[in-house]
Amino acid sequence: MIAKIAGDKPRVAVIGAGPGGIAMGIQLAAGGYDFTIFDRNDGFGGTWCNNTYPGAACDVPSHFYSYSFALNPRWSKTFANQPEILTYLENVAADHRLGNHLVPGTRVSTLRWSDTDHRWTLETDDGSTHQFDAVVTAVGMLDVPNIPEVPGANRFRGRTFHSSNWDHSKSTAGERVASIGTGASAVQYVPEIAAHTAHLTVFQRTPIWVSPRYDEPFTPEQHELFERDPEEALKVRDTAFEAYEAANFRVDSEMTKGLTDMAREYLTRKVADPELRAKLTPSYPVGCKRPLQSRTWFPTFARPNVRLETSPIVEFTERGLRTADGAEHEVDTVIYGTGFHAADYLRSLDVYGTRGRRLRDEWRDGAEAYLGTVVPGYPNLFTLYGPNTNGVTSIIYILEAQAEFVRRTLDEMVRRRVQAVDVKRDVHDAYNAEIQQAMQGTVWLANCNNYYRHPNGKVVTQFPYSGTTFVAMLAEVGLDAFDQMEATTCRESTTPR
Ligand code: NAP
Repeated sequence: MIAKIAGDKPRVAVIGAGPGGIAMGIQLAAGGYDFTIFDRNDGFGGTWCNNTYPGAACDVPSHFYSYSFALNPRWSKTFANQPEILTYLENVAADHRLGNHLVPGTRVSTLRWSDTDHRWTLETDDGSTHQFDAVVTAVGMLDVPNIPEVPGANRFRGRTFHSSNWDHSKSTAGERVASIGTGASAVQYVPEIAAHTAHLTVFQRTPIWVSPRYDEPFTPEQHELFERDPEEALKVRDTAFEAYEAANFRVDSEMTKGLTDMAREYLTRKVADPELRAKLTPSYPVGCKRPLQSRTWFPTFARPNVRLETSPIVEFTERGLRTADGAEHEVDTVIYGTGFHAADYLRSLDVYGTRGRRLRDEWRDGAEAYLGTVVPGYPNLFTLYGPNTNGVTSIIYILEAQAEFVRRTLDEMVRRRVQAVDVKRDVHDAYNAEIQQAMQGTVWLANCNNYYRHPNGKVVTQFPYSGTTFVAMLAEVGLDAFDQMEATTCRESTTPR
């Protein structure tokens, strides 16, 4: 752990060493802050450390899924695979000497704000406590796997694992495999493992729209060009950036209708068997669930050793899974491609703010934050990739803007000798009322179940405008949006100014 820097700058804890934690660490290092990055893993990379399943890749073009200040001229192809992304993130962290700040293999479990000394106390799983002036959560949105409670799970004699915790100790080659779920992860690993399994049953609850993926390798000439002239790499990035900016997520938009028509046409072209095609055809518009891209998903179901099962799973047996139609599916391995508790923000952390209020209770009806980054009652707490920051652009772009905002806010606090800032309730409430109003008519509220919504129907993950709008809105936020506690009067609870 790095030694404390002398001076009156806040000490900052960052929880998570993934893309958000790295962006934050770079800002804090540049600002000369004393900071510590905690991560349950042993190194940098976050989600790209955890998700090592076969075929894992990013479906945002890599030139855009990179930091603006650390472009990579050597991306091997349009959508880089997990090992390449992990190496990229590790390299960026190393280039900015973040390793000295990392406390690896340490899971932070609880955050407690003190109303008397205006500091956060972090508790870690090993029982130790640490004090910081400010805390930045950078745990991502997809950090806690969703493993459904299927009756009889204990009696199953085979192995089970979740896609984000892939069991590499034994190959699925030659095995009888069951894979549950047809989301972004399954779409990537199912085609990868299918050919080598003895038999693969894919359990689908809801069909998904899949479009062809245009994933082209960059040639040696292009690599050389991008190295020589970064403007050329920027053009590739800008093309992806602009495509996201132009997106229109309204259910009645030309884009939604066009993409749905194209996806339907692709499915019709790729799946000849009308019965199979009917099972694979969604009843909602593209975008209601995360749009997926693959050229190998539909052909996988034409393999003689692969079966699409749509009868719901009712229980585990000793030898496999039983479905509602009474059939027993005997398998050696069950893979949960069942996603994450995405709408349940900061599920892995227990956070107590002013006067002992508990964030989990306050977010009971759906998480909310001001611009996804600050929450009233939780001073000096910043949530990267927080509520309603997802879905409309590369998350790296959002994270960079949030990290810059945190740094700017801390700098301003130091300059004005403010010890703590707590976003004003009315600012927070007005913003959230506005964005929930803007959600009306979007594809995220169309007729599908998705992980964007709280069980009560409120969209808690998506931002309803463009990425540049988010960045512009955040850039306008100054200390006047906060109640402030002065450094010299730190014994009192919040004193609004
Ligand atoms: P997901 O998209 O949430 O899909 C989960 C799947 O599991 C769905 O098909 C769901 O069915 C099914 N499921 C959940 N509970 C079930 C149950 N009890 N019984 C039967 N089926 C059940 O999860 P994911 O595929 O892991 O992807 C999550 C997110 O990770 C993505 O949307 C994306 O943000 C991120 N991701 C990104 C990439 C990338 O390329 N950037 C790649 C992988 C993942 P229903 O549809 O019926 O709910």
